Amino acid sequence: MKTIAAISTAPAVGGIGVIRISGDEAIATAQKVFRAVSTTKSLAQMQGYTAAFGYVHSAGGQILDECVALVFKAPHSYTGEDVVELSCHGGLFLLKKVLEAVFAAGAIPAEAGEFTKRAFLNKKIDLTEAEAVASIIAAQSETSAAAAMSAKEGALFQKISEMSDSLVSLCAHLAAWTDYPEDDIQALDYAHLEDVLRTAQAECEALLATFDMTQIICEGVETAIIGRTNVGKSSLMNLICGEQKSIVTDIAGTTRDVVETSVRMGNAVLKLSDTAGLRESEDTIEQIGISLSKKKAESAGLILAVFDCSKPLGEDDFALLETIKNKRAILIYNKTDLSAVWEPDFLEKYGKTVVTVSAKSRVGYEALVNAVEEVLGTKEFNPYAPLLATERQKQCLSTALSCIREALAALQGGLTLDAVNVSLDAAVNAFLELTGERATEKITEEIFKHFCVGK
Ligand code: GDP
Repeated sequence: MKTIAAISTAPAVGGIGVIRISGDEAIATAQKVFRAVSTTKSLAQMQGYTAAFGYVHSAGGQILDECVALVFKAPHSYTGEDVVELSCHGGLFLLKKVLEAVFAAGAIPAEAGEFTKRAFLNKKIDLTEAEAVASIIAAQSETSAAAAMSAKEGALFQKISEMSDSLVSLCAHLAAWTDYPEDDIQALDYAHLEDVLRTAQAECEALLATFDMTQIICEGVETAIIGRTNVGKSSLMNLICGEQKSIVTDIAGTTRDVVETSVRMGNAVLKLSDTAGLRESEDTIEQIGISLSKKKAESAGLILAVFDCSKPLGEDDFALLETIKNKRAILIYNKTDLSAVWEPDFLEKYGKTVVTVSAKSRVGYEALVNAVEEVLGTKEFNPYAPLLATERQKQCLSTALSCIREALAALQGGLTLDAVNVSLDAAVNAFLELTGERATEKITEEIFKHFCVGK
């Protein structure tokens, strides 16, 4: 493999900046720009996992910076190839100069995600683990970082491998039985066959169910705050965000646009929109806001429906309760600091979680976090379990599941064992595509092109 190089630290000024070089000529290339002072050994003579202090210099021999060179010997490196990491001072100009020197010494620029791609191609990691590297970098909370790390350690890979292995041995047995029925092969136990398939089906279904939860925890759930004008939507948004994100005012319809922001509540991440009131309006600009908010409510994964307890409920409130009847929603009984003209029990009749708050006096936030976690089911989330983290993984597993269902239907419908085997083979293929053992070049390209350069 050609020797590649890139700045692996963030493209910003920092205390330290790292240039990573990987490939057959990585050590020889690094040696051309590095002169050690802490050792008389050349980089090639150094053992893997050891470091030397010295200087990096340009092709012309001009000293650019002090530097620590860290040597990794194949296959014991991130990429599985020889790797040298040059840790310099973290000035961007300086790092670019060092990188230029490394290119002049023979390395070529690494493409986005190429180090991780090489790790995959050299079988250091499977595709789920490679995708987990991207999730670790993107993680915004302790829980999502733990989930990504666990995937990087192979939690999903192991589960998929187990499921795949169990189908592969079933396929082998079925093939032997159909090809050589008269030979001395253990008689086929249909009940056992059905049992294995049912277990595989249940495991696939359970794993697929983790996708939504992972999305809520890592990506966030679209959340719409809706309700009549002046019930306190913007104030609630501010309570949740802890800062003035939207305008709070007495004039109806001031919140004309949908304001969006992401916040963490317990384990869950909410992608919040503060929407214009649901009131029918003559004002055209306000109407645009209102139609936007209705759309948001339709597509939202969670609705926070706000009601003002200091004013009698009106037609709009009842219409809202009807609209969200079949949606995942929390009903907010707001303005508890004022004297109420109706009781929260009224909302409880609608079979949804009700939270009493005073958005203005910032009372009820904890109860709201609890309700959000309960309604979304994020409290019991176990980041160390095998979890589906990407749409790609979900699609592969859905394919595997429908193939397993086909196999079961074929078995129960009395079709030939050949037909069962064909479906099982397709299921195994889907599993192997998920882990990358049989993924096409196009799929791997697609995954790595979303990585940053240097990773
Ligand atoms: P929106 O139109 O639904 O976004 O409502 P706003 O958040 O703009 O609030 C409308 C008015 O109600 C403002 O004067 C707020 O200060 C007031 N308000 C909001 N929440 C509360 C609350 O909990 N208690 C009291 N007393 N007033 C509130």
